[in-house]
Amino acid sequence: MARLLSIDEARASVLETVVPLDGERVAVQDALRRVLAEDVAAANDVPPFDNSAMDGFALTAGPPNRTLRIVGESRAGAPATAAPSDDEAIRVSTGAVVPDGTEAVVPVEQTSADGDGTITIDAEVRPAQHIRRAGEDMKRGERVLRSGTVLGPAELGVAVVAGRAHLDVGRRPRVALLITGDELRDPGEPLGPGEIHESNGITLGALVAQAGGDVVHKGRVGDSREATEQAIATALQEADVLILSGGVSVGPHDHVKPALEANGVEERFWRVALRPGKPTWFGRNEDTLVFGLPGNPVSAMVTFLLFVRPALQRLQGGDATTRRIRATLTEPVPRIPNRDEAVRVKLDNGTATPTGPQGSHQLTSMLAADGLAIVTAGDGTADEGTKVDVELI
Ligand code: AMP
Ligand code: MG
Repeated sequence: MARLLSIDEARASVLETVVPLDGERVAVQDALRRVLAEDVAAANDVPPFDNSAMDGFALTAGPPNRTLRIVGESRAGAPATAAPSDDEAIRVSTGAVVPDGTEAVVPVEQTSADGDGTITIDAEVRPAQHIRRAGEDMKRGERVLRSGTVLGPAELGVAVVAGRAHLDVGRRPRVALLITGDELRDPGEPLGPGEIHESNGITLGALVAQAGGDVVHKGRVGDSREATEQAIATALQEADVLILSGGVSVGPHDHVKPALEANGVEERFWRVALRPGKPTWFGRNEDTLVFGLPGNPVSAMVTFLLFVRPALQRLQGGDATTRRIRATLTEPVPRIPNRDEAVRVKLDNGTATPTGPQGSHQLTSMLAADGLAIVTAGDGTADEGTKVDVELI
C-alpha cells in the first residue's frame, strides 16, 4: 500500500487546489465573519478634530487657585469656535471640540463653581492635558484593515470609523452536503433495529456556517451505487464545495469513491495517516472541490476542521493557516504506529488534557474541546509532560 499522506501534506494538497472565489460588495452590517477582499484606509483623521477627554472646562495651562470666567460651551455636536484666553474657561463635554489654540482641559471634579458665572480651578493645569488630538486613532489615508482579514465586531467598527458603509468581501462558498448511509434516521425519529440518528448533517452544516460557507444543498442517500452516483451528479451542479459523509471506506457498502470517479471527479488523495479520519478522500471536479469525509461523527468533525475549514477560508480569500500552539500533555496518550492522532483536548495555562475516551464514535469527546493535540505516530506512549502541537478549533 502506498505511504499515506501526513496531515500537513494532505492539507497542502487541498490548499494548492483552491482558487479563491470572486468578491462582492456588502453593507458593513452584513459583513460579520466575512473575509475582507480589499485594504481599508481611513477616509479622514480619526478623531476628526481635537476634542475633550473629560467633562470639564477648556482653559489655558497654569497654577491652581485661578478664578476664570465661563464664556461659552462646547457640546458634542455643537462646537465652540474661539480658544479661551488667560482669564476665560469654556464648558466642554467629553468628545466635544476644543477650539484651536486651547491649551488644556480641566475635569469638572477639579473645579468649584462660584455661582456668579465664574469657576475656581483647584489643581495645576498642565499643557495639553485631557485633550485628544485629531488623528490619534487613525491618520487620513492610513491603512487600518488588511485584505484577507476575517471581520469581527472590532473590524466592523473600525471600518465604519474609517468612513465606510460598504466593504468588498470574498463570496461565501456554496456548499453541498451529501449524507450517505442506510442506517440513518432524521433527528427525533424513532429508531428501528440497527438504526441511528443522522447527526453529521447537523454538525457539518453548522461547521460550514461557522466557516463562512452557505449550505445550498443538503442530500441524503442510501448505500446504493446508482443512487450515490445520481446524488453526486445533482449536488455537483450547484456547489463550489461538495462534502460527503460516510461510505468512503473499503466496506462492501461503501460506494462514494467509485461513484465520485464515475462522475469524473479527479482524486487528489485518499486516506491520510490520521486517527480519526484515515479514509478521508479529496478531489476536484472542474470548479468544485470534493471532500469525502468518514461517517464516524468525530472523524467527520476532525477531518472537516483539519482539511475543509482551511479550504473554505482560502476560497473566501482568507488566510488558511490554522492556529497552532504548543502545550504539555497532562496524562499519557498511547501512540499509534503509522498514524498521527488528533486528540481532543481542553487547554489550560499551557497544558492539554484529553476530553475523555477518544473513540471516533464518541461525539461527546468533542464537547468542551479547545483543540486537537497532534500526538505523532510511533511506538509506546506520549508520556505526561510531552510537548505537543495543538490545532485550535
Ligand atoms: P461509514 O463511514 O459510512 O462506514 O460510517 C462509519 C460509522 O459512522 C458507522 O457507525 C455509521 O453508522 C456512522 N455514521 C455514518 N454516517 C453518519 C451520520 N451522518 N451521522 C451519524 N453517524 C453516522
Ligand atoms: Mg456508511
